[in-house]
Amino acid sequence: MKKYIVITGASSGIGAAAAKAFAGRGENLILIARRAELLQSLKDEIAQIAPESDVVIKICDLARSENVLALWDELKSYELKALINNAGFGDFGLVGEQDLQKTVKMIDLNVTALAILSSLFARDYKRKQTQLINISSVGGYFLAPGVVPYCATKFFVSAFTEGLSHELAQDKEAKMQAKVLAPAATKTEFGSVATGDADYDYDAAFKRYHSSLEMAEFLLTLYDSDACVGAVN
Ligand code: NAP
Repeated sequence: MKKYIVITGASSGIGAAAAKAFAGRGENLILIARRAELLQSLKDEIAQIAPESDVVIKICDLARSENVLALWDELKSYELKALINNAGFGDFGLVGEQDLQKTVKMIDLNVTALAILSSLFARDYKRKQTQLINISSVGGYFLAPGVVPYCATKFFVSAFTEGLSHELAQDKEAKMQAKVLAPAATKTEFGSVATGDADYDYDAAFKRYHSSLEMAEFLLTLYDSDACVGAVN
């Protein structure tokens, strides 16, 4: 039976770069996001560069937990080897001055969807040679003023995943590994989504930043290693 790597938030940025990098290794992929046209063009691109890789796309708004649960039911017809919870977004602004609806949606995606998918993956795949990689952030280890709610969501991601990793290490029957990738600034759609500025300028905002291609390579290095945390600075 074919085995698949699931990547959420695969329509742009780090997720799309990771999808191409895993496809380059011949891996079969299930790619999830809301924007169908971007996922379809990524699937077409992978068919050109890695025709042996089977790519399934699933359109899903993961900020709604009922969708997350329905998605997991759909994934039951596939055998999974890894789940990469990458979908997430930032919300820049001072607490009390931010768009609360956006903050709630961010928590629904960055925290709730990730917790549900990680838990269901552990329930169904803990005893198999599998990997869960959750994308946190440097902000999951460092609280920065002006990005506090976002950092708090990523503290959850880091704590949950590292805690699960310890739990798995103590469970003699568990073969699953749980890992955290904690990217530093990476040029993607993240800046525009976090600030609401479609012209967000990474050069003006950061002295140095990574490309999504570099971040995908860090992700593959983490995938190949036995480390629990892949922190990047
Ligand atoms: P990005 O280019 O904005 O990608 C975010 C991905 O998440 C997109 O594919 C987006 O797809 C998906 N997504 C957003 N809302 C969604 C929803 N409700 N349901 C399903 N999918 C959704 O940003 P990125 O930088 O690659 O972000 C990837 C991860 O890296 C995030 O968890 C982010 O917090 C983390 N990170 C990024 C940086 C950075 O500097 N870029 C630094 C640290 C951590 P659709 O819009 O098509 O749904």
